[in-house]
Amino acid sequence: MILETRTLHWPDEAACATFAQALAALPETRRACIELEGTLGAGKTTFVRHLLRALGVTGRIKSPSYAIVEPYELPMPPEQPGQPPGVAPLPLLHFDFYRFGDPREWEDAGFRELFAAPGLKLVEWPRQADGLLPVPDLHLQIEPALDDSRQVTLTVRTALGRALLAAAPDSGAAP
Ligand code: ADP
Ligand code: MG
Repeated sequence: MILETRTLHWPDEAACATFAQALAALPETRRACIELEGTLGAGKTTFVRHLLRALGVTGRIKSPSYAIVEPYELPMPPEQPGQPPGVAPLPLLHFDFYRFGDPREWEDAGFRELFAAPGLKLVEWPRQADGLLPVPDLHLQIEPALDDSRQVTLTVRTALGRALLAAAPDSGAAP
């Protein structure tokens, strides 16, 4: 079910970073599942990198193409620095299903359990695992234009996804 759609225009990568930073500031993002669709070079991994940096992930952020999933620990929000004793950090999982071909791998690799766990999931190439993935909260379709700008269609699929629209500027359409 589609609850709402919104179109954004990213004139440059800085606009992509600004949206990622606004998303990172929302508490709902920490338990969201966000899908990223678009051709090779559209900017899916670039968006993930900006989002992870804005969430406080340090160190190398590599594209998970070969491993399909790259796990991180979701850093605590700035207002709650440090990890309270006895509280395990939430996972942050970056998936890229570009090279996913065999549905049996879904069970074998434990993807079902990973998606059932709490935390943030970012999913590139979700169509490659069609029928296996849970309904995402938000879907981003990134379309590159010749001038390096991007048209981004946000599709809200859940109530939590609707809360994520707070990160999108109201007049998202291209000027
Ligand atoms: P994908 O993961 O979709 O295959 P990447 O994120 O790896 O794509 O590559 C996107 C490339 O496009 C990066 O080199 C990035 O710097 C560049 N880029 C240029 N303009 C933008 C923009 N407006 N938004 C996102 N990335 C952009
Ligand atoms: Mg990528």
